Amino acid sequence: MTDTETGPLVRLERVNKHFGSLHVLKDIDLSLRRGEVVVVVGPSGSGKSTLCRVINRLETIDSGTITFDGQELPAEGKALAKVRSEIGMVFQSFNLFSHMTILENVTLGPIKVKGVSRQEAERRGLELLARVGIADQAHKYPAQLSGGQQQRTAIARALAMDPKMILFDEPTSALDPEMVQEVLDVMIELARDGMTMLVVTHEMGFARRAANRVVFMADGQIVEEAPPAEFFTNPATERARDFLSKIL
Ligand code: ADP
Ligand code: MG
Repeated sequence: MTDTETGPLVRLERVNKHFGSLHVLKDIDLSLRRGEVVVVVGPSGSGKSTLCRVINRLETIDSGTITFDGQELPAEGKALAKVRSEIGMVFQSFNLFSHMTILENVTLGPIKVKGVSRQEAERRGLELLARVGIADQAHKYPAQLSGGQQQRTAIARALAMDPKMILFDEPTSALDPEMVQEVLDVMIELARDGMTMLVVTHEMGFARRAANRVVFMADGQIVEEAPPAEFFTNPATERARDFLSKIL
C-alpha cells in the first residue's frame, strides 16, 4: 500500500508562519492518523486558529511542509479546491447563508462543487440533518433556528461534502451554555464513527470523551501533547498548569 492509504492523514513538519513581524506558528510538528481526534487548547492568541487555517490553506505558510492524504498541499487551482472539499471546517460563527434554507445551505456545496444532482443532494442532505437531529428544521431559515441548531446545520453542511477530516475552531464558544452539549454530542458521535477531527475547544468533557490526544499550544508553539486523562490531571509543564488553573 502507498502512503496515501497507510500514512497519517495530515502531517505538518517544521511549519512556520508570520504575520508581519509576529511569529505565530513556530516549528509546528503535528500529525493526525486516520480516525484520530486531536483537541487543541491554549491561551487566546497562541495560534490555534491559524493552525486550523493553514491546514486547508486559508493561510499560506512561510516554511515547512504540510501533507494531506500523502500529498503536499497544492498551492492553488483545482488541486487545492479538491483538497479543500475534503477538509470540512466548522467555525465559532456558524457562517450559514441567511437567505437560504437549512437544507439549501447543506446541499449547496455538493451541487455546486461536486456536481451532485439536486435530488440526490437533497436526499443526502435530509439524511444528514436527521443525523444531527434537525430534519424537522430543513425548510426554515437560519435566523429561525437556535444557535445550537445552526451549529448542527454547519456540521451537516461539512459532512455533506464527504470530508476526510473536519477542523472545528471553537465550535461552541458562541453558543448559550444550554446549547453547548447538543453540539458536543453530535461531535462525539462523529468521533465514534471514525471521523478524523482537529478540534480547538476548551470543553474538557468533550476532550475526555472523544480525544485521543490533547495538544497544548502557547505562543505559537506546541508545548505539550498527551492523552486527555494525563493532560488534564497531570500536565507536564508549568505553562499548561497555569493555563488549566485559569480555565477550570
Ligand atoms: P488563537 O486562535 O489561538 O487565539 P490566532 O491563530 O487567531 O490565535 O492568532 C495568533 C496570533 O496571530 C494573534 O496574535 C493574532 O492577533 C495574530 N493574527 C491572526 N490572524 C492575523 C492576521 N490575519 N493578520 C495579522 N495578525 C493575525
Ligand atoms: Mg482562535
